Amino acid sequence: MKKEIKPFGEIELSRKLLQAIGDMGFEEPSPIQAKTIPLVLTGADVIGQAQTGTGKTAAFGIPTIEKIKETERRIQALVLSPTRELAIQTAEELNKIGRYKRIFTLPVYGGQSIDRQIRALRRGVHILVGTPGRLLDHIQRGTVSLKDVRTLILDEADEMLDMGFIDDIETIVSSIPLADRQTLLFSATMPEPIERLAHRYMKEPQKIAVSKENLTVPLIEQFYYETRDKLEGLTRVLDGEDTGKTIVFCRTKRGVDDLTAALETRGYLSGGLHGDLSQQQRDRVMKKFREGKLDILIATDVAARGIDIDDITHVINYDIPQDHESYVHRIGRTGRAGRAGIAMTFIEPREYRQLRLIMKLAKTKIVRRELPSASDILERQKDTVRERLLQVLQKNRYDEYHTIISDVAAEGDYDLVDIAAAALKLSVEGPERRDEAVENNLTDTGGAPGMVRLFLNIGRAQKIRPSDIVRSIADEADIPGNIIGVINIYDKFTFVEVPQDVAEHVMSAMHKATVKGFKVNVEPARKR
Ligand code: AMP
Repeated sequence: MKKEIKPFGEIELSRKLLQAIGDMGFEEPSPIQAKTIPLVLTGADVIGQAQTGTGKTAAFGIPTIEKIKETERRIQALVLSPTRELAIQTAEELNKIGRYKRIFTLPVYGGQSIDRQIRALRRGVHILVGTPGRLLDHIQRGTVSLKDVRTLILDEADEMLDMGFIDDIETIVSSIPLADRQTLLFSATMPEPIERLAHRYMKEPQKIAVSKENLTVPLIEQFYYETRDKLEGLTRVLDGEDTGKTIVFCRTKRGVDDLTAALETRGYLSGGLHGDLSQQQRDRVMKKFREGKLDILIATDVAARGIDIDDITHVINYDIPQDHESYVHRIGRTGRAGRAGIAMTFIEPREYRQLRLIMKLAKTKIVRRELPSASDILERQKDTVRERLLQVLQKNRYDEYHTIISDVAAEGDYDLVDIAAAALKLSVEGPERRDEAVENNLTDTGGAPGMVRLFLNIGRAQKIRPSDIVRSIADEADIPGNIIGVINIYDKFTFVEVPQDVAEHVMSAMHKATVKGFKVNVEPARKR
């Protein structure tokens, strides 16, 4: 069956784009999109103050792709990106938006074989996304021509500035005649050099900023969890917390479907709610939730709008809201009628800045919390575990495990109670892994006042330079490079100081990250 094509808010778009946006699961334009897309479609130069998590990529991607002539496979739009990760992500998103229109986007960045990029470029692309250094390299080799570029996008301009790309950017930008191009600039902050850049290289740019409307934040407890594995994080919270009726917010319809399926398979009583479901299906889910037959309702912002339930104990932002207004609306679903309520937000390391902006604009404090540990969860589940253990014993079907236990017992190092406890732990928690909840002692790391000194297990032996450390931390943790303090590189390890308020965030962001291809382990340094 062909899927129905739905409008995208008030914005008029071609069928092929609407179809792609529908596939991506977007239900309505994000606030920045609602303002940016119509303006860009008129041909205006636009400055957007927005960061990751607001939907900024689609904000410039949708109108840019709408304007591209698909029959001409030449570079008609150029996106400058500060990092390889962002370039790849952006290209992926643009390829999805341009899927039905058959618009091809290629990312080019340093570190990847240039020959491979040249071969891909020869096949012809409509949009090129590149880091400034590598782009210049291609331009100088003549493997990239910018003469057909009509839309130029500077993404995360403040980041590019921090990383020292300003000269490269100016060279690239000034090689495309101002009269021929529309220029869009996105930046989380607007420092003076960015203002100057905009003034010199843009035509009467229209500024779009987040609204500063004053909102009343409900008086409820607000926490955030930072993790790269949100599903694991969410299940730990659901297992470790005393939750009643809970609403979990996802960004897209697809997100709702995926999470509902994942939670159902794990045995949680949950149901999904979004705009692609029939009225009847929605009513059914709502009825069950109201009556307490479902504990968890998973919804998009749009679908949750009509919900009016008083006894919701937890609101969980599985995806970070696109702006502070949405944050305040979402969390206002709990703590009603004088009841207590808790709001929790999951973020990935890259979304930290968006979280800080939400706190600032909503004038609220969202406190960092660590995920419940296995022992917290066990504490709550002791009775269930005991029950299950007894059931297994009564059914008496575990002969094949006898030999392992009797072998271990025969070795004589452990007594039977310890072996049984270890076996139970294995069945409840799975195999041993690094305990992330190890107490982080950040109070005395030997850093300068206000700074935390971190230890990284890489150094000169891996040809690490200070710039690698700065770039990698700034990139992974999405913090400005200039707030990173003293860096001391030794043969096998490195010390780096970061401000106290971002130290825990930097550690999570760098956990399992790589620097120059080397996996790093980051810990608070020991006192000198
Ligand atoms: P960005 O701010 O561009 O990094 O986007 C953050 C995430 O939001 C990406 O996963 C996008 O695919 C998603 N996104 C962008 N626009 C929308 C929208 N209108 N509705 C739902 N999700 C969106």
